[in-house]
Amino acid sequence: REDKPDRQDDAETAFRGITISHADRVIFSEAGITKGDLAAYCDAAGERLFELAGHRPVSLLRCPSGAGTGCFFQKHAGKGFPREIDAIAIEEAGGGGEDYMVIRQQAGFVAAVQMGTIEFHVWGAKEDRLEQPDRLVFDLDPDEGLGFSAVTDAAIGLRDLLGQLDLPAIPMVTGGKGVHVIAPLRRGADWETVRIFAKTIASHCADRYPDRFTASMSKQKRKGRIFIDWLRNERGATAVAPYSVRNRAGAPVAMPLTWDELGGQTAADGFSIADALKRLSGPCPLIETRASHSISKSVVARLDEMIERG
Ligand code: ATP
Ligand code: MN
Ligand code: MN
Repeated sequence: REDKPDRQDDAETAFRGITISHADRVIFSEAGITKGDLAAYCDAAGERLFELAGHRPVSLLRCPSGAGTGCFFQKHAGKGFPREIDAIAIEEAGGGGEDYMVIRQQAGFVAAVQMGTIEFHVWGAKEDRLEQPDRLVFDLDPDEGLGFSAVTDAAIGLRDLLGQLDLPAIPMVTGGKGVHVIAPLRRGADWETVRIFAKTIASHCADRYPDRFTASMSKQKRKGRIFIDWLRNERGATAVAPYSVRNRAGAPVAMPLTWDELGGQTAADGFSIADALKRLSGPCPLIETRASHSISKSVVARLDEMIERG
């Protein structure tokens, strides 16, 4: 078998018709995860990835020399792109247009891996209604040294606040340091309305619990606190896609959880690729959570009332 022809090697490392070159190249050295492993993961998780990240403008974190350094964040479609990833022209806020990327078939995730992608980041809106977000994301960024239980407490507090406005939310451990609290929205409100709403919630938390939260990006103000990063809710902003592998030691996966499951976590990077694969046969709490409300005038009015009451 020593003279096994190359073509057979290729056949062994193709997924959804996409040949993965250098499939045995190690991408995550400690975990021993290869490019082929990443492609196999995106193949197996294709349906779920597609449901959560398909038909949205997508940015790619590409790491041609493996996980760690030397990565670049790609927002715009380039020349020589695989046909499994589509281009979508989007008007920029300041006028003019640019070609963004959008994945319209499950094979797109595998094609991205072939190009050296590790992470997928998506908009909070789908391509059929780009101006009306369907996903609100509060990105909880803890200061270094803060325990993970402070993050889960903060996530629960945010859930309760959103719950008072009849907005159900789901936690996602990012695979990094923090948690995203994600509220599926009924579409209707525009970006500006959603942005102001998110900012108001974050500022309210910071005003009410100044020892625990800050709504300001400044590292200084984060000392011992959690930054509620509401800026993920601006037009053009992205957040890491659920089920995306992260460019961090051990190849952790960004994983949406039930609130009960979140309570059992001691870190944001507790889900490996193997863990994620096991979860594919079960339901995904984020997919199961139906968007019940949009950020309507009455929701905004109720938030304002709540803040006035203190
Ligand atoms: P953690 O839990 O460790 O904070 P995270 O995914 O929330 O993980 P952040 O640094 O809080 O990481 O969020 C950065 C977000 O900003 C990413 O989710 C990504 O979508 C977006 N982003 C925008 N531009 C870039 C860029 N050049 N490089 C990386 N991320 C970028
Ligand atoms: Mn974060
Ligand atoms: Mn952040």
